[in-house]
Amino acid sequence: MKLIFLGPPGAGKGTQAERIAERYEIAHISTGDMLRSEIRNATPLGAAAKAYIDRGELVPDDVIIGMVEKRIQAADCKNGFLLDGFPRTTAQADSLGKLTDIDAVVDIEVPFERLVARICGRRMCPDCGAAYHVSYHTADTCDRCGAKLYQRDDDREETVQNRLVVYEAKTAPLIAYYEERDTLIKIDGDQAIDSVTDSIVKGLSK
Ligand code: ADP
Ligand code: ADP
Ligand code: ZN
Repeated sequence: MKLIFLGPPGAGKGTQAERIAERYEIAHISTGDMLRSEIRNATPLGAAAKAYIDRGELVPDDVIIGMVEKRIQAADCKNGFLLDGFPRTTAQADSLGKLTDIDAVVDIEVPFERLVARICGRRMCPDCGAAYHVSYHTADTCDRCGAKLYQRDDDREETVQNRLVVYEAKTAPLIAYYEERDTLIKIDGDQAIDSVTDSIVKGLSK
C-alpha cells in the first residue's frame, strides 16, 4: 500500500501517519523528520535546508525529490509506504507520479483558526519523532523513549504564519490535483485523535 497524507501544518499528519503506518506495516516517511535529522547530523543537505525551514519556506524541489526518490527504494518500503509531508508542490507531485503509483491520498482537514494553537503547543521528541501537545501532555519527556521534548524553532508564531501562507499558495492546490488523478479521501481532522484514526481506517477500507 502506497499512501500520501496531505494537510496543512498542524493538521495531525505526523500523529496519524505514525498509527496508520504501524497498522498496515508500511514505512512512515516524513520529509520534515528526514530534514531535521540531516540538520542534526550537520550534513551538506541539512545545511542547505536549514535556512528555508527557519523562514517557514519550502526546501527546493530538487533537494526534496532526490531525497524521497532514494528513500522509497529502501528495503523497509517493500510492503509500501506512507508519505507524510510530501509532495508539497505540483512539481514534487509530478516527479512522484513518474516514480511510482499511489493507492490513496488522505487529506486531513482542520479549520485554519485551530492550526496556530496546535503548532505553537507542539512539543517533539528528538529521538523518535513523536509529537505531543502541551494541552494534554504536561511531562517534558517522551512517553515512548524518555528523551527530553523540545519545541521546533519553526513552531514559533512568527514562522507559523508564513508556513500557513506557503501551504495555501503551494500545497493546497494538490487537493484538486489528486482529486482529478487518484483516490482522494477527505478526513475531518477536527476530532479527537482516536476518532481521526478511525475515520482514516474506514476511508481506506473502502
Ligand atoms: P502535522 O504533522 O500535520 O504538522 P502533528 O501530527 O505534528 O501535525 O500535530 C500537530 C499538533 O497537534 C501536535 O502537538 C499534536 O499533538 C496535536 N494534535 C494532533 N492531532 C490532534 C487532534 N486530533 N486533536 C488535537 N490535537 C492534535
Ligand atoms: P509540518 O509539521 O508543518 O507539516 P514538517 O515537519 O512536515 O512540518 O516540515 C517542516 C519544514 O520542512 C517545512 O516547513 C519545510 O521547510 C520543510 N519541508 C518538509 N517537507 C517538505 C517538502 N516536501 N518540500 C519542501 N519543504 C519541505
Ligand atoms: Zn521519543
